[in-house]
Amino acid sequence: MPIPIHDPQQAPGALKRLPLRKAAVLFIVAVCLCLFGLLYLQLEQSRRQDLAVAKVASSNLTRAMAQQAEDTFHSADLVMTSLVDWIEDDGYGATQKPRLQKTFARRVQQMGQLHGIFFFDKQGQWIITSFADLPRGNGVADRDYFKFHQQNESTLAHIGPAIRSRENGEWIIPISKRVNDHAGNFQGVLMAGIKMAYFDQFFKSFSLDDNGIMFLGLTDGTLLARRPFEENLIGTSLAQGRIYQKLLPEAQSGTAMIRSVVDDVVRLYGYRQLGSYPLVVAAASSRDTILKGWYERAFQSSVIIALVILGVGLFGWVFIHQVRNGERIEKNLRRAQLALEQIATHDSLTGLANRRLFERSLEIEFARGARQVSPVSLIMLDIDFFKRYNDAYGHVAGDHCLMQVAQVVKTCCQRKADLAVRYGGEEFAVLLPDTDINGALAIAGQIRRSVIDKHIIHSGSPTGYLTVSLGCYAFIPSGNDSLETFIHRADAALYQAKNAGRNRAAVLSLDGGIAELMRSDR
Ligand code: GH3
Ligand code: MG
Ligand code: MG
Repeated sequence: MPIPIHDPQQAPGALKRLPLRKAAVLFIVAVCLCLFGLLYLQLEQSRRQDLAVAKVASSNLTRAMAQQAEDTFHSADLVMTSLVDWIEDDGYGATQKPRLQKTFARRVQQMGQLHGIFFFDKQGQWIITSFADLPRGNGVADRDYFKFHQQNESTLAHIGPAIRSRENGEWIIPISKRVNDHAGNFQGVLMAGIKMAYFDQFFKSFSLDDNGIMFLGLTDGTLLARRPFEENLIGTSLAQGRIYQKLLPEAQSGTAMIRSVVDDVVRLYGYRQLGSYPLVVAAASSRDTILKGWYERAFQSSVIIALVILGVGLFGWVFIHQVRNGERIEKNLRRAQLALEQIATHDSLTGLANRRLFERSLEIEFARGARQVSPVSLIMLDIDFFKRYNDAYGHVAGDHCLMQVAQVVKTCCQRKADLAVRYGGEEFAVLLPDTDINGALAIAGQIRRSVIDKHIIHSGSPTGYLTVSLGCYAFIPSGNDSLETFIHRADAALYQAKNAGRNRAAVLSLDGGIAELMRSDR
C-alpha cells in the first residue's frame, strides 16, 4: 500500500530532533553521580589508609609493651630463681639470713622495677625481706599467691593480681616462686613485688590521645596496670570484654575496632598475649582521633564537590531552560509552517486538497505507480445544475451545499493514500492510487449514492434533490505520462456522464487504443 504523500505529519523539511533535554538531564545526573562516586572512593581509600597506618602503630605499640612486660618479669624471675636455689641449697639459718637480706636489698637496688623481695616461711610469716626491718603483722597466709604455691607443686613463677604492699601501701604486682626443702616439701614462698608505678611511667612515655587506653592484664582478665590510672579498676576483671571473649581465643595478637560499653567511644585496640608469662597487653586509640585528619579532608573535599555539583546543576538548569525555550520556539515555528502548508495546499471552504497539492500528488503517484506497476485512478465530479441551485437558494446556501458534498467525498475516500480535491468551483476530483477502474467506479457510485442520501433539496433538479455526475479513468503509469491527459480523460468521462443525463458515473476505458464509453448508473 502506498504511503500518502499528502500526510500533514510528513511536512517537508521537518527534522527529527535529538532528545536534547533528556540527554542533558542524564548527562548532568551522570556527572554528579561520577563526582559522588569519585569522592566516595577517594575518601574511603584515604580512610582505609589512615586506619591501616593506625593499625601498624597500634601493633608496634603493643609489641613494645609486651617486650617491656616480658623483660620486667623475666629479669625478676631470673633473680628469684637464683635466690630460690640458694635458699633451697643453703637454707635460711642464722648464718645465711644476713647474707640473704643483703643480697635481697642489693637486687632491689639494682632493679628499678622492684618494690621489694620477700621470703615467707610455710606459715606465711616474713623471714627475710629486702627492707631492713621485718614488717609486723599476721603474715601473708591469706594472700592468693601464697595459697597458690602452698597448693601447687610447680616451681615456675606465679604472677598474681595487683596488691597493696603491707610494707608501705604501694601498688605492686607480685611475682612469686615456691621454695621446697630437700625432700620437695613446701617450705615457703619467695615473692618479688613489681611496682605498678614502673608500668605507669612506661605507659606515660608514649603519646596517646585523651581517649586512649593502655593496659596490662593477666590472661584470666584481671587488670594489673592501666593508663589512665584508675585505682578502683585495678583488680577488676576484663574477662567479659571482646578482647578476652572473642579475639584472644582466635589469635595471640591483633587489632580490632571496639565500641566501649562504658563510655561508648569507638577505639582501635591492639592486643598481644605474652608467650612466656600469663600476661596480656593492649593499647587503644579512639577512632575519632585516628580519623581527625581524615574528617577534615573529607569535609574539604565534600565542600569542593558540593560546589562543583552546584555549578554543574546551575549550568544544567540554564542549559535545559534554553533548550526548552528553543524547543518551544521550534514547535511554534513548526505549527506555523504546518498551518502555512495547510493553507497553501488546501481549499479554505471545504478543507479538501487544492489543485496545487493535487498536481504534486499526481506526479508522485504516477512515479510510484510506474515503479510498482500498479494502476492509478481518478474520479472527476461535478454537481448537477448547480448554477440553478445558486440561483434558487443563494450563494451562501450554495457554499454550504459545496461543504456537504465535500464531506461526502472525503468520507468515501477510505484509504489513507486517497486524496479528495476541490478541483475548482463545484467540481471535485478523487485521486485513488493503487486502485483499478473497478475500484474507482465502486467509489464513484458510493459518492453518488451518498450525495443522494443527503436529501439536499434542489428544486432546479429534475429529481428534486441535489445529484452529482462522475467520470472515472484508470491506467498503469509508464513513467512518462502526461498529467493533463490523465485529467482530461477523467473529465471526458464526466462529460459523457453529463451528456448521458447526469446523476451517474461513467468510465472511460482505453482498449486497443479505442476509447469506449461505458455507462453505469450504479
Ligand atoms: P451542470 O454542471 O449540471 O451542467 O450545470 P451547472 O449549473 O452546474 O453548470 P456549471 O457546472 O457550469 O455551473 C457552475 C456554477 O457553479 C457557477 C456558479 O454559480 C457555481 N459556483 C462555482 N463556484 C462556486 C462557489 O464557490 N460557490 C457557489 N455558491 N457557487 C459556485
Ligand atoms: Mg461545473
Ligand atoms: Mg455543474
